[in-house]
Amino acid sequence: MRVNENILISSLTTMRLGGPARYVLEVETPEEVSDAYGFAEQFNLPTFPLGYGANTIGHDEGFEGVIIINRMGGITEEKIGDETVLKIMGGEYWDNVVEYACNKNLTGIEALSKIPGLTGSAPIQNIGAYGQEIADTLESVYVYDTVTKTFKTLKNEELKFSYRKSILNTTEKNRYFVISITLKLHEGEMARPFYNSVEKFIEENHWVDFSPKGIREIVSRIRADKLPDPIEKASSGSFFKNVYLDKTSAEAAEEKGIPVYHGKDGDKINSGWLIGQCGFSGKLLHGMRVNEKANLVLINESATGYDDLAKARSEIVGKVYDKFGFWLEQEPVEIINPKK
Ligand SMILES: Cc1cc2nc3c(=O)[nH]c(=O)nc-3n(C[C@H](O)[C@H](O)[C@H](O)COP(=O)(O)OP(=O)(O)OC[C@H]3O[C@@H](n4cnc5c(N)ncnc54)[C@H](O)[C@@H]3O)c2cc1C
Repeated sequence: MRVNENILISSLTTMRLGGPARYVLEVETPEEVSDAYGFAEQFNLPTFPLGYGANTIGHDEGFEGVIIINRMGGITEEKIGDETVLKIMGGEYWDNVVEYACNKNLTGIEALSKIPGLTGSAPIQNIGAYGQEIADTLESVYVYDTVTKTFKTLKNEELKFSYRKSILNTTEKNRYFVISITLKLHEGEMARPFYNSVEKFIEENHWVDFSPKGIREIVSRIRADKLPDPIEKASSGSFFKNVYLDKTSAEAAEEKGIPVYHGKDGDKINSGWLIGQCGFSGKLLHGMRVNEKANLVLINESATGYDDLAKARSEIVGKVYDKFGFWLEQEPVEIINPKK
């Protein structure tokens, strides 16, 4: 186990905010995961599991605790009938997994191309994009249970996935450390119709390759056109969640001229559209730029600290509420010191 001290959270997260973490432990075996939690317990310090930091934001005061990062890599493959079962260690970079599957013509995760992050984090908020979610193909996760201090497997049904949610970020938040995940994929193509923007791309570019590799290429190009590369621009991707509505509210919204998408996971409003309608597109608010092509994304251009982000957030949330009556919910999680 690698033990690091006083590491800036800004250097571990793509939004690049946050002061020092007292300890950052990098674990390379399941046994080291249990050792890492033992270490924190010995010093009576809180813990925070971290991956690539693409969905996590730090505070200026840092974290008086132990950040634990999964450094276990590797993919193993087993063919069972028509299906291919991939077991992926949580420290593997997610997009390498998508590339691996697409190269083998396996369908199921190709639309999740280029989502920054480690594999162990993917089930936490049930990553999703362009019509796929990890919940669609995830069989199980293998975890360390910090309550019982044992290793166990949690099946898909037990994780209670929904939009950007699972028990891992709600009822059982911070209880489990993900060691590896198992996906069930099969050879073939995604079913049509594809996501609106993918269909639009196909039409405009006379695209004919719908294989996993072909869809990966489309999604990668769409994303490169409208989303900032976290290496070049500091952001956490979508800063706000989309707004999901029940049937009555969806009808009421449509009557007011708000575009509602009727997806397989329910009726939703693109929060980026709401933000754009409030005049924020491309604006710089307290050092945070509202990304012009995808208004849901806030880019840290020159924020001097967490407070600047908080001010930008509250301006956006307040104006959207005043104009439309919807409270925008933040997507990224924050590393917060427990109250003394
Ligand atoms: C430019 C950009 C685009 C993005 N696009 C999308 C998108 O299209 N769809 C989407 O869903 N998300 C998107 N995101 C968000 C982000 O990429 C995903 O949430 C991703 O899964 C985060 O992975 P990570 O390793 O960086 O997680 P981190 O930010 O490191 O952690 C996220 C959460 O997972 C927990 N966690 C991390 N590792 C473990 C572990 N081993 N065990 C238990 N808990 C753990 C953390 O405690 C935290 O709560 C985007 C982000 C950026 C910057």
